[in-house]
Amino acid sequence: MTPNVAAVRQLQVSPHDANADSPPMTAAASERQAELAALVRRQLELLGETPGREGLLRTPERVARSLAWLTGGYESDVRDVVGEAVFEETHESMVLVRDIEMYSMCEHHMLPFFGKVHIAYVPDGRIVGLSKLPRIVDVFARRLQVQERLTEQIAAAIEEVLQPRGVGVVIEAVHLCMMMRGVEKQNSKTITCALRGQFRECAMTRDEFLRLAHRGT
Ligand SMILES: [Zn+2]
Repeated sequence: MTPNVAAVRQLQVSPHDANADSPPMTAAASERQAELAALVRRQLELLGETPGREGLLRTPERVARSLAWLTGGYESDVRDVVGEAVFEETHESMVLVRDIEMYSMCEHHMLPFFGKVHIAYVPDGRIVGLSKLPRIVDVFARRLQVQERLTEQIAAAIEEVLQPRGVGVVIEAVHLCMMMRGVEKQNSKTITCALRGQFRECAMTRDEFLRLAHRGT
């Protein structure tokens, strides 16, 4: 079954949660945060800073909180995120959500990499609420990552949840570890792609996805 271009649905969805406030912390979590903050304070000293100066007074706590949020994906699970939002549906054409904003951190330097994710799948009797796709991206982006693994994990999660005829995921991202340090390449973009099922087997499906994913970028 070849998807019909006219039936492809395109949406722009922002993955930002309207409410980014963290839920109340458990005792164990607040102990971890305090320990992390102490390490950040020590890190500031080792960098030659004076943690006691005014501008840095609350920095260790802020960094600890921020890191906990940026790596919150370790504590979330695709099944929980998707919840009840899988629906029986006979739609058999490609569903594409493109330009999903993605922010992650490279595991080699703990520096951000960020860009856009394009996700497509060809359903086989089940579709997922479209707003869930950006949430799935966040489950894996909010961890220490490499872009290649992030791409594969998103594809694998969609395959597991929906068992579709095929899945395609493309990520285009820039890496601060390349831009600010090392090779200092400010304009290079890294593109990774994971294709499964029909997206791997059928050239027409794959070409259509890649053409739509890269359109206007
Ligand atoms: Zn890096």
